[in-house]
Amino acid sequence: MPHLRSRQQHLLSVVVPVYNEEDVIGDFLHALHAASQSWGMPTEILVINDASRDTTLARLKALRQDIPIKILSFSRNFGKECALTAGLEYCQGDVALLIDADFQHPLDVVPQFIEAWEEGYDMVYGVRQSRGDEKPIKRWLTHTFYRLFNKITPIDIPKNAGDFRLLDKKVVTALNQLPERARYMKGLYAWVGFQSKGIYFTVQPRAAGQSSWNFFRLIELALTGITAFSDLPLRVWSIVGAIISLFAFVYGSFIVIKTLVAGADFPGFATLIVAIMFLGGIQLLSVGILGEYISRIFNEVKQRPTYIISEQIGFDKSEDL
Ligand code: UDP
Ligand code: MG
Repeated sequence: MPHLRSRQQHLLSVVVPVYNEEDVIGDFLHALHAASQSWGMPTEILVINDASRDTTLARLKALRQDIPIKILSFSRNFGKECALTAGLEYCQGDVALLIDADFQHPLDVVPQFIEAWEEGYDMVYGVRQSRGDEKPIKRWLTHTFYRLFNKITPIDIPKNAGDFRLLDKKVVTALNQLPERARYMKGLYAWVGFQSKGIYFTVQPRAAGQSSWNFFRLIELALTGITAFSDLPLRVWSIVGAIISLFAFVYGSFIVIKTLVAGADFPGFATLIVAIMFLGGIQLLSVGILGEYISRIFNEVKQRPTYIISEQIGFDKSEDL
């Protein structure tokens, strides 16, 4: 395909979110810096320290002696989605690469990303070929979640795609315009649209350290995703209510007729208890779902910033990088 863009004249911003990565961050940034020399693009590296509790920040500062990196440091842990949001807001490139610091996203597929971007794609995302070190239960849950998500929301999240992405400035600008505080990035990438292309890569095992995701964080993220992109869980209750009411009406009519014809008999207590419990359960569930939405509306209307920066290093032009 003919190239629509040329890499030489464009600045690439590499956005790296880090949280407690003291074991890998040095190796990773050296590898990234070395690799970026061969990509043929002027590059800036922007590291977002998501308030690591270990020595990551000190290491980052020390690394600036060898590698020109810019550092944003959060005042507390806001989560990867917020770190990426900050990275996209602060990066200056014509194109931005989002990459994890733990070597799970292989640097050697980045040239393919850049190639696709030169061909004219505005967003190029990595598609995991195998979910390497993940447990079958996690894989099944993610699979089920994405199927559900794509069914009940107007947008489609590509299967097995994550945050390993190259975004043209157009996409970055569009993402930066989205005002919501609940940053479900995978949904936002799909929501903004643009010409996109997936490129397969084999996910690598973590080089060192630990994944900071646990089951509850994933459930929370899944709920954020669903509530941010679908109102079906809210609206389904009127239909459920209508069906149950219809059923109750039909059954009620049946009892009236039966009593008129055959006379009153002993009432069914078991049926009564089951019906009460069933309805109680349904009502609590629907109130709970209302609560999920309301708590998120509450978070949005508070208008708090998505993240707070406590330290910003390397952005000052006069500073010697
Ligand atoms: N990360 C972050 N803030 C967090 C958790 C993770 O910035 O609260 C970073 C982390 O340092 C890594 C990337 O996000 O660069 C992916 O995190 P992790 O490897 O823990 O997640 P997984 O690969 O298991 O999805
Ligand atoms: Mg990882």
